[in-house]
Amino acid sequence: MTTDELLEQITTDIYKLHYVWDTFLLLFASDKKNVDVLNAVGSGFFAMNQTLMYDDVLLRINRITDRAKVAGKDTASLEQLLHLTGWRRSDPANWKIFSDELRTVKSACRECRAHRNRRLSHKELDQATPLPPTTRKMVETAIEAVERFVRLFNRELRPDVEISFVVTNVTGHAERLLRHLTNRRSQKQPPPETRILYVKGNRRAELQCGFCGETEVVGYYPDDRTSPHVRLHFAKCDGLIGCEVVMIEAVERNGAEPPRTFLVDLKDKSGSLTQQ
Ligand SMILES: [Zn+2]
Repeated sequence: MTTDELLEQITTDIYKLHYVWDTFLLLFASDKKNVDVLNAVGSGFFAMNQTLMYDDVLLRINRITDRAKVAGKDTASLEQLLHLTGWRRSDPANWKIFSDELRTVKSACRECRAHRNRRLSHKELDQATPLPPTTRKMVETAIEAVERFVRLFNRELRPDVEISFVVTNVTGHAERLLRHLTNRRSQKQPPPETRILYVKGNRRAELQCGFCGETEVVGYYPDDRTSPHVRLHFAKCDGLIGCEVVMIEAVERNGAEPPRTFLVDLKDKSGSLTQQ
């Protein structure tokens, strides 16, 4: 493989790294509402994906910054890229400049490497020594160092070709997923009216859900302000995402009591209604 070919391959690897990392950031580290939506529709599934995506990013960073030879096999890595130039003999000054740059990259990726060596590719028996915390900064420091090296290297090898790692529409698929998950009646204005109709002294009441249009018999307990049936309905209601705060008006059918307004916070799983 030529230096140019490996440079192309590593550039593609960085684009793929961005695809995973930028998607991770959009879903789990940008708008809190995105996290609320994902938790509401599939908390375990998305928590698993969050871990898988983060660890995948760490593995991708490690592959790019591996030694030129691992277990007797040549790797598609930055170190290999430098070896392929032959600068060690032909251009010692450049060899030194880029060897120093590579050391800087490896230092920036040290914490990512600790995770790869001690947790991801192998599992260290000694669990007492703590690993560096899995932070956004740890990953961004590593990615910036890798990109800087590749930009400098590319400028040296192909001064007339500018390289960019900005990929447009990289999070398009994740954005579409979020759009589909949030395309519910509850997100459209005006908010629909949801009511509990009851008769004073009778705990069997009727829920008229404005989000899906269905009517259901529910228990109404105004004194302790809990109504598990109402929550059961909202848990399966296709007009809701499952992380909204829903306003309900409780109306006595014969006007024996003034209407009361309750809020149900669907993120709060404890089951209580809050009177306004
Ligand atoms: Zn409903």
